[in-house]
Amino acid sequence: MTTERLDKIIASRCNLSRKEARLAVRKGEVTVAGNTVTDPGFATAPDAAVTFRGQALSTQQYCYLIMNKPKGVICASTDKRARTVLDLVPEPLKRKDLFSIGRLDKDTTGLLLLTNDGAFAHEILSPKKEIYKTYFAVLDGQVTDQTVRNFLSGVTLADGTVCRPAFLRAAGENSAYVKICEGKYHQVKRMFGAAGLGVNELKRVAIGGFALPGDLKEGECKAVDKSVLNSLFFAKKAVSVHID
Ligand code: URA
Repeated sequence: MTTERLDKIIASRCNLSRKEARLAVRKGEVTVAGNTVTDPGFATAPDAAVTFRGQALSTQQYCYLIMNKPKGVICASTDKRARTVLDLVPEPLKRKDLFSIGRLDKDTTGLLLLTNDGAFAHEILSPKKEIYKTYFAVLDGQVTDQTVRNFLSGVTLADGTVCRPAFLRAAGENSAYVKICEGKYHQVKRMFGAAGLGVNELKRVAIGGFALPGDLKEGECKAVDKSVLNSLFFAKKAVSVHID
């Protein structure tokens, strides 16, 4: 089993800087398997029983959070002016190495995944894996059959970029569901823009077969077991909880 330095584990799981973590270890505030360890470089197994100031730390190396992102916060680790999605993560769930899987615009709401598992994030984001992200858009005009066909054959954006096929379905007079499996910058807005439509509201309602839980209020965030997210990998292409 690969091991990690104790100060690194303390820093990431206790939301401390490496310097603070080193100091805490040297001060005798950390135990591993019941013994106080004062060497910050102590080689620690990821599943070792570690305590910090008497509190047992999660033995989970990786964590997975779901958030209902509200408007007005940005998907970044830090920002001098704007609040970030990481600022919304409640203290017990906070970890230094958390990041959002992909980005939603500042004014986009809905389902966001956060993790510290880079390989998992790559699986979700890679267009090759064809995990479709479903958005609900309120538009300033109507979706026509021609728009649906254009989305299906791959929209060409204003800068000439050709998108992969996307699945579009009108939901009401001025609203629609769209499913895409890529994450180009402002992609949904630019795709509708190419069809002459402005996006007034955008909400991500599902990733793969995993839908935003109805009881997760805007701004709320909760930890989920990785197995709960397995449905992310189902419901490819047109198969969807929302669009069909
Ligand atoms: N596409 C957009 O244009 N904005 C988002 O936030 C997500 C997808």
